Amino acid sequence: MAGGQVHTTYDVIIVGTGPAGSTAAAALSRGGLAVLGLDKETHPRYKVCGGGLSARIEQVLDPGFQSVVEQSVNGVQFVYRGQDPLLIQSAQPIAYMVMRDRFDHYLVQEAIDAGAEIRTGDGVREIKQDSGGVEVATGTGRYRGKIVIGADGANSLVARQLFPDRSQFRAPALESEVFIEDGRHYPGATTILVDVGAARQGYGWIFPKRECLSVGVGEFRRKTTSLRSTFDRFVKEEQGLTGWTVPRPVGHPIPAYAEPEGQQADERASRFVVGRAVLVGDAGHLVDPLFGEGIYYAVRSGQLVARAILAHKDDHCLSLAAYETALEQEILPDFRVTARIARVIYAFPRLGFKLLRRYQDVVQDYFEVLQGRITAQQFLPNAKKRLKASVNDLLLEALHLR
Ligand SMILES: Cc1cc2nc3c(=O)[nH]c(=O)nc-3n(C[C@H](O)[C@H](O)[C@H](O)COP(=O)(O)OP(=O)(O)OC[C@H]3O[C@@H](n4cnc5c(N)ncnc54)[C@H](O)[C@@H]3O)c2cc1C
Repeated sequence: MAGGQVHTTYDVIIVGTGPAGSTAAAALSRGGLAVLGLDKETHPRYKVCGGGLSARIEQVLDPGFQSVVEQSVNGVQFVYRGQDPLLIQSAQPIAYMVMRDRFDHYLVQEAIDAGAEIRTGDGVREIKQDSGGVEVATGTGRYRGKIVIGADGANSLVARQLFPDRSQFRAPALESEVFIEDGRHYPGATTILVDVGAARQGYGWIFPKRECLSVGVGEFRRKTTSLRSTFDRFVKEEQGLTGWTVPRPVGHPIPAYAEPEGQQADERASRFVVGRAVLVGDAGHLVDPLFGEGIYYAVRSGQLVARAILAHKDDHCLSLAAYETALEQEILPDFRVTARIARVIYAFPRLGFKLLRRYQDVVQDYFEVLQGRITAQQFLPNAKKRLKASVNDLLLEALHLR
């Protein structure tokens, strides 16, 4: 292994201090464990991301996170290839916009304040596990721990080295930050734009920040070779961007959750744990397959793994099994629902856009999912019932029976 002498032994070593890693570090340290967080970058650092937090984040983070919120959002302007704007609003915030450098720095600071040791600017190169623990080598040192948490994002080294059988599919996304003058936000300071027709199996977005617009496109369900031209077309078709300089977009994968085909439930669960190693956030592909939302799930999975480890401090098998159970109860059932919705919307985006216009109350209900009032599982049956009833209405109208 790289590095020299093994340094201090820790209860938990966390590779990556994005939202998943730093949230886990804070919770584990508060619970009295010796925690080391390692990151190849030094915070605050730029991260390619829309920075849209669904409002349910309020239920899982301390209110202090509001200090790094740039804008509150209470409306979505849907368009199809830049046309036919449809604004749907909510009385309450549905999302909060952050710049990831400030948001992630805030979370890392919380972890340090809780007692975690954070070492940055030193990437992890190799991880090995044996019956007694794990050994993690960076460019400059070696560290030993009882458990290693892979929180190192979409290109996770932990996943590649210790979970070789996991799916490597990651959807491509591109984003650019457009600096705007005098707060001239488009489509509005409290409104996000979602272009349902911008990408073949995804969408285009414009998210308002204090001094800029985050403009991007993502494809969540298939590989594409021409995302740059999709991005350029999106920018051209959004008239609100005319006159602004849109810098060259930066690419980064989005590891949207996908159910492995043909596996039994017990085999599926073991995708998150191998021995003393466990995956959270993007490293575990815990990203919503409908919108590509990953920050909430990074934070939540970081908290769930910490809760499980603290509940069974002396037994890594029990604790990591408890984490997988928690994912099965709290996160994965919703992903299965949103994956079903994504399959329909992204296969038939024009029809999906028409349905949004016609069934705005269903969209309002989905806002309640984003606000954490109901789960996606609770949303689906009512939405299906309403859509079915209305489809009947449409048929009757078409037959002049109404
Ligand atoms: C274009 C784009 C737009 C997006 N927009 C949104 C959005 O609006 N809302 C939303 O919720 N999600 C969005 N996402 C997804 C979101 O960015 C991720 O889901 C989220 O960052 C996951 O957090 P994480 O902590 O798991 O990983 P990350 O935030 O990626 O953090 C991983 C950390 O690990 C470190 N690291 C990596 N390798 C090593 C190593 N070898 N050694 C040490 N450290 C390492 C990295 O430096 C990094 O700090 C977007 C993604 C993309 C690509």
